[in-house]
Amino acid sequence: MKIYKKYSFFINILIAYIVIILVTLKLSMLWSIAVITILFMVSAMLFDKYDKQKHYYKNIIDNSTNIVMVSDTNNIVSANKTFFKYFKGYKSIKDFSKKYNCICDFFEEEEEYLANINDGLSWIDYLIKYTDRYHKVKMKIYNQEYYFAISASILNDKKSLYGVILSDITEQETYKKELESLAVNDTLTNIGNRRFFHKKLDEQLVLAQRYNHPFSLIICDIDFFKKVNDNHGHDMGDKVLITYTSLISSMLRKGDVFCRIGGEEFIVILPHTSQDKAYILAQKLRQNVEEYENVLPITMSFGVAGYEKGDDDTSLYKRVDLALYKAKETGRNKVVLG
Ligand code: GH3
Ligand code: MG
Ligand code: MG
Repeated sequence: MKIYKKYSFFINILIAYIVIILVTLKLSMLWSIAVITILFMVSAMLFDKYDKQKHYYKNIIDNSTNIVMVSDTNNIVSANKTFFKYFKGYKSIKDFSKKYNCICDFFEEEEEYLANINDGLSWIDYLIKYTDRYHKVKMKIYNQEYYFAISASILNDKKSLYGVILSDITEQETYKKELESLAVNDTLTNIGNRRFFHKKLDEQLVLAQRYNHPFSLIICDIDFFKKVNDNHGHDMGDKVLITYTSLISSMLRKGDVFCRIGGEEFIVILPHTSQDKAYILAQKLRQNVEEYENVLPITMSFGVAGYEKGDDDTSLYKRVDLALYKAKETGRNKVVLG
């Protein structure tokens, strides 16, 4: 059928020639009409078959659960019906184009996901360059977040038209994120757990060793917490943990990493922070915890240690833990430098 389409011009010329020959041969009117009719019937059948095939493909693409669209470097040229299931407010691409040019206007930048510009390449050039990789994109459409697997291919020789396919993987991605979060989050206080602490500590150690970035640790432990449970019950103990976790969280900066590494033991990683600055912060935390008196009055003991050249996770952790031990040993509700 492709061949017929490609050579339809020549086929029509051929029909015209046959007509001319028939006229020159002076075939009878009846014969001429019969030959021409047959020729037109064959031609119409071929066209009809081609149209039907086109219609089938259109149906298949429209009924796909994937968004299928044709785009030039920036603008969407056409899209299947599924596109409009997501972009409900628009009836046609023309309508959509009045407000947006590119599907990339909806991309939400996040690690792991395709951005408008990736390694200096536009999103579509990046997809074309790395067709062998699995690409994912996060999109916000009408305030709802979606995740799609995305791929692109070149449609014409001029490399100016691309076919883009987006498959909705929102359910799988959300489930995966939930599992990831469960693996690194403490369910009671909703801050990082011990595993998360070690992961982040390793990251900081790499940065410190490679770029000489300073960083420090503050460890803290609630004083006589056993008594809270014994005197007020386990639920009250849990409330204390949640409340004082929130207090400390509220006093930390965005890049700080706060984790619960034991029953009533916490640790903070402070990137780009010297030991002296960490010590000052620990003093503030100690004082605020003592003065908070929310749910129940409690105090905490603190250990502080800064990264030193040659430190690994064990040596640094040992130093900060020893500082906490000293704070406990020498009367509690105090900060000791490691
Ligand atoms: P110190 O000042 O030496 O730290 O004494 P402490 O009583 O705080 O320390 P200890 O290790 O003797 O007791 C810790 C208590 O924390 C015992 C345990 O029942 C309690 N605990 C551990 N995890 C949880 C928890 O998730 N919820 C509650 N409510 N209590 C917990
Ligand atoms: Mg304790
Ligand atoms: Mg403890």
